[in-house]
Amino acid sequence: MITEIIPTPKKTSYFQREYIYNGETVRTSLDILLGEEEYILEITFEDGITIIGGSERAVYYGECTLEQIIKQTNGRLPAMKIEDEPKFAYRGFMIDCSRHFFSVDELKAIIDTMSRLKFNKFHWHLSDDQGFRMEIRALPKLHTEGSVRKGSNFGSVRSKSKYSGYYTREQMKEIVKFCSEHYVDVVPELDIPGHCSAIVHAYPEISCRGRKVAVKTTQGIFKDILCAGNEKTYEYIYKILDEMCAIFPSDTFHIGGDEVPTENWTHCSECKNMMRENRLETYDELQAFMMNKVITYLERKGKKVICWNDAVKGDNLKKTVIVQRWLDRKNQTVEWANEGRKVLMSDFYHTYFDYPYEMTPLKKVYKFRPYLSNMDLRGRENVIGMECCLWTEHISSNSHLEYMLFPRACAVAENSWGYGRSNWRSFLKKVNNFKYVFRQNRIHFAPRRDWNPLPLRRLFGTLKFLYKIKPRVKEN
Ligand SMILES: [Zn+2]
Repeated sequence: MITEIIPTPKKTSYFQREYIYNGETVRTSLDILLGEEEYILEITFEDGITIIGGSERAVYYGECTLEQIIKQTNGRLPAMKIEDEPKFAYRGFMIDCSRHFFSVDELKAIIDTMSRLKFNKFHWHLSDDQGFRMEIRALPKLHTEGSVRKGSNFGSVRSKSKYSGYYTREQMKEIVKFCSEHYVDVVPELDIPGHCSAIVHAYPEISCRGRKVAVKTTQGIFKDILCAGNEKTYEYIYKILDEMCAIFPSDTFHIGGDEVPTENWTHCSECKNMMRENRLETYDELQAFMMNKVITYLERKGKKVICWNDAVKGDNLKKTVIVQRWLDRKNQTVEWANEGRKVLMSDFYHTYFDYPYEMTPLKKVYKFRPYLSNMDLRGRENVIGMECCLWTEHISSNSHLEYMLFPRACAVAENSWGYGRSNWRSFLKKVNNFKYVFRQNRIHFAPRRDWNPLPLRRLFGTLKFLYKIKPRVKEN
């Protein structure tokens, strides 16, 4: 029988006969000649099952593959050999825990499921205008005050009740440990210098106006960003990053850089001084200059840094940065990659899972290739992988979060592993076979009728969503 593995392995060969699996321990071993994520799974009538991997993570991937085979065949395994490794080194998923907060156990169910789809990066969005969610001992008002907002006015999610929550240091360490047991690296994000209302609420002295602002209750882009000209801003950022580095051992950090309205910088003498002293001509350059200081700080600690593509607008951004492309009307990301810099693909129209299935159906996600037109061969080689993003302004419950993520994440798993992108019917079978993992983890995945709505339903669903999310309250 033919097995249906998700994500599709690089190479599968079948042989005569079969092997009856009775739950015995599988022989595994490491072979340093194999790639970091490369494994060979062999099933023979004579010798049973062996998995050889280039690392413990690779062996785990072999075990995940084997489990799917066992489930599909009820233990009557075909004699076969799978030689497998991913095309992309970065296979990520982002969860926004600022707009809505998800418990450690809720995150664990998702992380376990994603790891079995061979995702290897959990990008944890922990700070934003609507709530700061990390316990930071050196600056405690961040979590005691920055984590609390007066209500929620996101259009589709409305409530007058106070909303709060943050992860204690112990809880963050627990997630890191759980992730490491599942061979997932945590990529924590401190979003600067925009999306910082919660930080400015707690410590107004590091904004240009120095005034306390509310932790936001609506979605949007807010002008009280961090002051780029004040040394204290950097002192505070470094304090936060020091504590984050002590908790998150991953070699990759995210420092945001998206949607930065520079209006307040234009009225700030300290920002203007900083520009003069450093011969910066535009506010985009000031942003890149600011990010560069923070990037250098992290690089000295041995970290690689990711920024959203908005940060490339100032062409002085450090070239060592990995640019995460989400929405880039000027297509600067293409240039970035073609010039030999690294790019991570999170295309807004294909991998933003906060948008409903009517706008981003499963098949559209499945068809997505993580390359951009005008990317040359070198540019393509600089795409390190893909990440699906789940922003949560409109997602207030765990079951809704899971519904939006699954099974669309399966398509991202398939595309970022890289070999199963040409057979839609077989992909559907694979998703179906993977449902046992959803059930084990009590994941509320979307039912099949919602995966690919027909055109009329897509239209109405889109209009309904756009109407529903329209903010009814203005806030600044
Ligand atoms: Zn300023």
